[in-house]
Amino acid sequence: MADIIQLLPDHVANQIAAGEVVQRPASVVKELLENAIDANASTIKLIVKDAGKTLIQVIDNGKGMSPTDARLSFERHATSKIKSAEDLFQLNTKGFRGEALASIAAIAHVELKTKQDNEDLGSAIVIEGSEVKSQEVVVTPTGTSLSVKHLFFNIPARRNFLKSNTVELRHIIDEFHRVALAHPSISFSMFSNGSETFNLPESNYRQRIVNIFGTKTNEKLVPVEEETEVLTISGFVGKPEFAKKSRNEQFFFVNDRYIKSAYLNHAINSAFEGLLKDGAQPSYYLNLTVNPQTIDINIHPTKTEIKFDDEHTLYAILRSAVKHSLGQFNIAPVLDFERDANLDTPYSYQQKGAPSVEVDRSFNPFKEDNPKVKTAPNYKKESTASWESLYVGLESKGTKTNTDFSEVHFESEPSNDSFFKNENEVEKKQSTYQLNNKFIISTIKSGMLVIDQHRAHQRVLYEDYLRHITIKEGVSQQLLFPLEIHFSTQEIDLINQLKEDLESTGFVFQSIQEETVQITGVPVNVPESEVSIILEQLISDVENEVPDSNFSATDLLAKSMAKSLAIKTGQTLTNTEQEHLVNRLFACKEPNVSPTNKTTFITMSVDELDKKFM
Ligand code: ADP
Ligand code: MG
Repeated sequence: MADIIQLLPDHVANQIAAGEVVQRPASVVKELLENAIDANASTIKLIVKDAGKTLIQVIDNGKGMSPTDARLSFERHATSKIKSAEDLFQLNTKGFRGEALASIAAIAHVELKTKQDNEDLGSAIVIEGSEVKSQEVVVTPTGTSLSVKHLFFNIPARRNFLKSNTVELRHIIDEFHRVALAHPSISFSMFSNGSETFNLPESNYRQRIVNIFGTKTNEKLVPVEEETEVLTISGFVGKPEFAKKSRNEQFFFVNDRYIKSAYLNHAINSAFEGLLKDGAQPSYYLNLTVNPQTIDINIHPTKTEIKFDDEHTLYAILRSAVKHSLGQFNIAPVLDFERDANLDTPYSYQQKGAPSVEVDRSFNPFKEDNPKVKTAPNYKKESTASWESLYVGLESKGTKTNTDFSEVHFESEPSNDSFFKNENEVEKKQSTYQLNNKFIISTIKSGMLVIDQHRAHQRVLYEDYLRHITIKEGVSQQLLFPLEIHFSTQEIDLINQLKEDLESTGFVFQSIQEETVQITGVPVNVPESEVSIILEQLISDVENEVPDSNFSATDLLAKSMAKSLAIKTGQTLTNTEQEHLVNRLFACKEPNVSPTNKTTFITMSVDELDKKFM
């Protein structure tokens, strides 16, 4: 039989490698920024058009390349950074695989201009799909400019696979942040479609964080410093009371390289244990320095994962360093409550409800007879008010006192009519029960119905908000004093994008500025105290949706508001409230599932019950 194995031509091999290295415009941004840093640049400028789909350009004032190196840099496995396999274990530079430029040149139109300091003239090279179109001598400043146009021009499938500009730009900004945070001594700027989105002068680490995430960030930073034989830690964590729901401000850098580590993230979370509100995420910006010989970063081409030789020790050191800082800066509660109560108590409650000097050792916020329990964050009176107004009609009839339930009847849609017992079959007594402050139990013709109160209410609110947004009928309640809320520039961007939809639900914005939003009206049913939580939740939902997004802003907004405002598990409902919720649920278009597709109720027939008793 004839031989059938052939070596792949270089341009094909490069395209295949590109699939690994370049997933999206942001991957190109990362590679180019890192090359500029490796070239010892002190000023780096990133320019993108159409979220990098049309143009990505990085200009640096680094050491540049000789004409031969300029040409060689596009060959596969061409690198100036390692010479032997041993070098891999001494790595202090970013790139080392020597395939980024070759890969990028295989799938885009690339133009390189570069000059070394000691030369008068530099070189320019144009490459399209691995094919060198020209190489000439040019006048150009010292350093390197690399532009990448028409990414994936020869792989339509990949190009079509790219997400919307909002999403792709978001990824680019994420990469930009990571690189800029790891190198505060380098000045960075970023331009998108001709306007400057970031201008980060050379600075210290704190200033760099503040320049990226907004001036308000300054007051929330708590320094963390620790030096041990195996690990040096420096950086900041965010004060617990500023913690938001999004994981956007969580950064680990190991030897100046951004990495993801669920394990180390866990160490931080455990240091914050007991200090955070439900679902809130600690923010951190931590630089870890370890001996390069004790880590292996070469396990993935995009290099955000890392293997440590001694993870357990790092975990312990990190956790105690963060704990120590939180304690030192008087963030952690210094009082000795009984340990359990301390761990489970929401932070804001500890601050408000816990006596700061006279320590009441028997104080247990979860004891039934403690009236404060009901005002703990999740069970706030205000939030009750918001949904109680759903029952206005009923309340005015005085049914709230639980006596006369003949006033209450199921006002089901025709389709659900047969679901409930006939009107005259409804016994004139309590027809719903609340179980565990979580489920509502009711009887139906064929048996019994168990409803998840939180999910059911989410469904009800979701359909309400969708309707409001679609027909722009949201009713607004005017605030006495405008509410001022601070956000980062990026968050402001998102709010601007969602502004119109938010307005249709009833929000009124007086102004949206660089880092502050002024709100003069909010949707009815939304208590003022919840506004910032709702907006924060919304932003975090939009951001979390981003990676796999074909998200509709309207839908997301409705979902997010429903999630924030729905009655919570743990909330006690009066019978009237229970019944009204049941009615409202079955008047929904899709009562069976919550907006996030979770079951809202189950039924159990008498037959099934009978079987259980056999
Ligand atoms: P790697 O960074 O893994 O070495 P790349 O394909 O990213 O591989 O780059 C290949 C080589 O091109 C680098 O090793 C470096 O010598 C050179 N190079 C790339 N970008 C720059 C730059 N901005 N300034 C100077 N040299 C560069
Ligand atoms: Mg590189």
